[in-house]
Amino acid sequence: MSLRIAEEAVRTDTGRQRNANEDSYFTKGPLFVVADGMGGAQAGEVASKAAVESFPRELPAAAPERVLEETIEGANRTIHELARKDPGLAGMGTTTTAAIVDLEAEVVAIGHVGDSRAYRLRGGRLEQLTRDHSLVEEMRRKGQITDAQAEDHPQRSIITRALGPEPEVQVDVQTVPAQDGDVFLICSDGLTTMLDDEKISRLLARATSLQAAVRALVDEANRAGGRDNITVVAFRVEDTAAPAAGNPRGGPGEGATLIGSSAEEAGLSATEVRRRAAAAAARRRREEQQARPRRRGLRTVLKAAAVIAVIAAVALGAWYGNRQIWFLGTDDSGRVSLYRGAPYELPFGIDLYSQRYASPIQTGSLPPKRRDAVTGHKLRSRSDAVSLIEDIEKSEGLR
Ligand code: MN
Repeated sequence: MSLRIAEEAVRTDTGRQRNANEDSYFTKGPLFVVADGMGGAQAGEVASKAAVESFPRELPAAAPERVLEETIEGANRTIHELARKDPGLAGMGTTTTAAIVDLEAEVVAIGHVGDSRAYRLRGGRLEQLTRDHSLVEEMRRKGQITDAQAEDHPQRSIITRALGPEPEVQVDVQTVPAQDGDVFLICSDGLTTMLDDEKISRLLARATSLQAAVRALVDEANRAGGRDNITVVAFRVEDTAAPAAGNPRGGPGEGATLIGSSAEEAGLSATEVRRRAAAAAARRRREEQQARPRRRGLRTVLKAAAVIAVIAAVALGAWYGNRQIWFLGTDDSGRVSLYRGAPYELPFGIDLYSQRYASPIQTGSLPPKRRDAVTGHKLRSRSDAVSLIEDIEKSEGLR
């Protein structure tokens, strides 16, 4: 027995609060890639494009895990070099999550860096396959914050591993089994910071096709705020053997929404599937409308209160801690600058730092080692930060 890719779909969207879409993707079975770029101006887009374009269009015969690892390591070197040579691209980076389906072996290999994610939906259950390389995920794993706190954490978007910033990167690779009916999802954090896993699996299960599913996911992420670029790639695998006569699964429940192959197996025509799905959706809407008004209002208020409480706590803590912390960075004009505070931004445009001094020296003009000291945003004491900026100015003949 072997598998085939029965259906694939992709949708990308700028979201509601960004001006540009810095996500990139590639989908052509058996290869699927999502990259979420970051960096000033167009740099994020350059990084995510470079990552996606590093994948060979004709996959070599080597083991998929090796192909993924070597390709992503190569992409990292390419992006790092681009950023090193062009001051306009300094500090750019990107996530990369890629899947290669091995149809013969009935497995999917996944390579991953950053906080984009891969999921597998099997039997209605959504399972996250990748581990976020993010500050919040590390705090959660160490037990410093709860799952619930991680979900709504204001610093969710700070990632601890990406392609670009370092000359070498460690790539997570793994291989998971695939079977008839499995749906795999690869997405940027613009989806998962807006929708929790439960919501994502509900939207997937409800959709009548993958095309409809990715559209619904992006629409819903936008409805929830659309704070970031949203990219969703999905594919479904099925057995190459024609489904046996009869109905081995015992038939769908009344009104169940079916995706693709299981509907065919149940002997339903596409029209019938759509009719049943529409009826089920209408019934659900009626039920929701009856239950909704009060509950929803209360939930919104509670959620808003919780978010405000978390932000207030973080801001207060940050304000105290921040006064002792300094770091070097690059300001909007590209100058080496001294900042007081931590190099983080909260939602609603709240910065945890303030600029205390701007040197006339451009970060991009520094030799690589000194530039790394500026773009690394390492936290320092005041005296350490000040003496470093003095050193830089001296070495550039300014003092
Ligand atoms: Mn993003």
